Amino acid sequence: MATLNSVGACRSGFSLLLSSQLYKTFVCPKFEYDLAISILLKQDIKVLESIQDKCLCMIVGGHAMFSTIVLKHICNLPTCCPVLGVDPILFLSASRVERGRLIRWRMGWLPGKPKECSYRSDHTSCCHSLYCPLVPSALFEQLPQPDHVQIPRIDFAITSLPLSSQELRPVYWIPLMTILWHTDVICNPDGDYSYETEHGTLWI
Ligand SMILES: [Zn+2]
Repeated sequence: MATLNSVGACRSGFSLLLSSQLYKTFVCPKFEYDLAISILLKQDIKVLESIQDKCLCMIVGGHAMFSTIVLKHICNLPTCCPVLGVDPILFLSASRVERGRLIRWRMGWLPGKPKECSYRSDHTSCCHSLYCPLVPSALFEQLPQPDHVQIPRIDFAITSLPLSSQELRPVYWIPLMTILWHTDVICNPDGDYSYETEHGTLWI
């Protein structure tokens, strides 16, 4: 895994899709080799899972203690639960930065550590992004509305995305990318956003 990591299976290197495919091709078989005929104790499985998590954290640059359950789900990596396929956010037409935001939102990492929001004395969080006055509410009105009020609108919008960029770009794609951009700016005000003048325009 260290070799893959050094040649580009990392956050600043290959796309998450390619990195996860390399991981699946070269590293997973090593984990799985012999597992089918081995009798493993609960703690053996725990150790294996933690090594796997460490490898995955090397790909996304997360802390080794981060939960990788969502990441495994996004990349369709082996878990105990059956999954249907790779999450389309890994290959839909988006810039590298936009894709990073989608993935980080899915992972629950985008708001990062709670910080004071520059607008008022509230702290940044997923929930705060939905109501922060710095994100124009008109953008949220363009997102698809979940049937259930408990489902956050951004999550519902991401889950509702088409499975391929060959399909028509949904009308809410640009509003969604703009909301995630605003969220990033609020949560990481020191970042350089000057090169981003448009959002979501790669998907024509
Ligand atoms: Zn705010």
